[in-house]
Amino acid sequence: MNFDLSEETAAMQETARRFALREVAPRVKEESFKRDLVSQMGELGLFGCAFPARYGGTGAGFLAHAVVCEEISRVDSGLRSLFNIQAMTVPYTIMEWGTEPAKGKYIQALVTAEKLGCTCFSEPNAGSDLAAIETRIEDKGDHYLINGAKTWISNGSMADFAIVYGTFDPGLRHKGLCAVVVETDQPGWSTRETPKLGDKSSPIAEITLEDVRAPKENLLGQWGGGFTVAMTALDRGRISVSSGALGLAQACLDAAVLYANQRVQFDKLIREFQLVKGTIAEMVAQVEAARYLVRRAAWLNDQDRPFTREVAVAKYFAGEAAVKAAGMAMEIHGGMGYSLEMPVERYYRDSKLYQVGEGTANIMRLLIADDALGIKKANRPRLHVPSQFRDLE
Ligand SMILES: Cc1cc2nc3c(=O)[nH]c(=O)nc-3n(C[C@H](O)[C@H](O)[C@H](O)COP(=O)(O)OP(=O)(O)OC[C@H]3O[C@@H](n4cnc5c(N)ncnc54)[C@H](O)[C@@H]3O)c2cc1C
Repeated sequence: MNFDLSEETAAMQETARRFALREVAPRVKEESFKRDLVSQMGELGLFGCAFPARYGGTGAGFLAHAVVCEEISRVDSGLRSLFNIQAMTVPYTIMEWGTEPAKGKYIQALVTAEKLGCTCFSEPNAGSDLAAIETRIEDKGDHYLINGAKTWISNGSMADFAIVYGTFDPGLRHKGLCAVVVETDQPGWSTRETPKLGDKSSPIAEITLEDVRAPKENLLGQWGGGFTVAMTALDRGRISVSSGALGLAQACLDAAVLYANQRVQFDKLIREFQLVKGTIAEMVAQVEAARYLVRRAAWLNDQDRPFTREVAVAKYFAGEAAVKAAGMAMEIHGGMGYSLEMPVERYYRDSKLYQVGEGTANIMRLLIADDALGIKKANRPRLHVPSQFRDLE
């Protein structure tokens, strides 16, 4: 295997790194949503790696997308969450499953960040179990009518366009699910922001949908095929999430190395103590292992090869690595790890998301174990949707 990044991917990495250091780092302590930064990311093409030029993308691919997510997360893990929304689970899902009118109307606007999106899976009674979704989607002949409630929706309060997952018959479980693009600028769409522990550059909202309408051309995939749409969307989203976990783990390592090289105790830099060295070595190994797993999953996606299993392994491992690295970075900082003056307390708060979002650590372990035990193969043909951007050119 060749682990070198191509020239194009390395250039995207450099662009993302420079942007993160110059524009994001000086304002990261504000811990708030910054529309101007999201717009700049769109203008720089950071959301467009996996999209063809006709949709405002660069066609650089999923590995480039992963590398860009890592660089942004290394500075602001919360801002990295925007990649799920502005690149993977909204526009990429529309590119894979949408009608031509929907593709033309929504993809470029999202990839360039002219408009904002959100993805609405979760509900009060449906988290890991998406087949329990209760939001109703009714076919009214010339339009769809949607009623229900969603929770934990990243950018829910800001979004112009949403992909809403609902059911036409809850008794059918996953076979009743449908996915529809909804424009949020209508009376029945209301949101309320939810306070949370970390990841604050991406606000979260509860959403109520009361007689919300969507045109027929906004159905994604088949009527009753929403579960398959959701599974492919989550696979793509896991590339962003695992890359974000990796970037955050790297930030923890960077901070720990910096502090160990400055802090003196017992007349020595603390880096001289073997127990501190052991912690640093553990962090390095976790970060590097996570990086290879994440990049393998992204690379498989670029080769149009199945990657559901591999991205689950990457997401599980990188998520755990981020949480462990945040704990170890705090430990190396001693009391300063607990201080609001240092970035590690934010890393610690942000890291926990990576064990929850886009499928919890347990759900990743179920998928991986079911595959290993021969109970359910993860890389099944129906989950292999080719990267269409090459075909579209
Ligand atoms: C910061 C943040 C952003 C989010 N953004 C979005 C978003 O944009 N859109 C969206 O739709 N959702 C979003 N979510 C919601 C997220 O996807 C859910 O929180 C996640 O899927 C878990 O669902 P739940 O919280 O209902 O937990 P539950 O499913 O209730 O799980 C509770 C616990 O039980 C475990 N568990 C559940 N089922 C099993 C099982 N079969 N075997 C073993 N253990 C199990 C879980 O692992 C977990 O530990 C976000 C969440 C967070 C925290």
